Amino acid sequence: MNFLPADEDVAWPAFVADSANRGLPQSFLDTLDRVNKTTIKKDDVCPICTTPFLEDQYPLVVRLKCGHKFDLECIEIWFKEHSTCPMCRQGVEKRKPIVVPDDEPEYDDTYS
Ligand SMILES: [Zn+2]
Ligand SMILES: [Zn+2]
Repeated sequence: MNFLPADEDVAWPAFVADSANRGLPQSFLDTLDRVNKTTIKKDDVCPICTTPFLEDQYPLVVRLKCGHKFDLECIEIWFKEHSTCPMCRQGVEKRKPIVVPDDEPEYDDTYS
């Protein structure tokens, strides 16, 4: 008895849509380096909104691995659709190998 789906030629729409979207997940933002307020200079501005970081009493600034700094809330919006630094276009993803869990065998050996 096989219960193979009849619609084998249907691709994975969710997956395709996901890979077409060049944005980064929210979890990526949590991995960014937070810039300590004391290291922010008076004339450092966010390149996205051009507002000095220190205009905010509690600036939430992140630094990408290329060294560019942005308001977290500004870069968050950018990363919804891009995965590169808006200043230098360097890829910002930390290339981690995709872990495919393979420790769950399909077969059931309860009755062996
Ligand atoms: Zn900004
Ligand atoms: Zn950059």
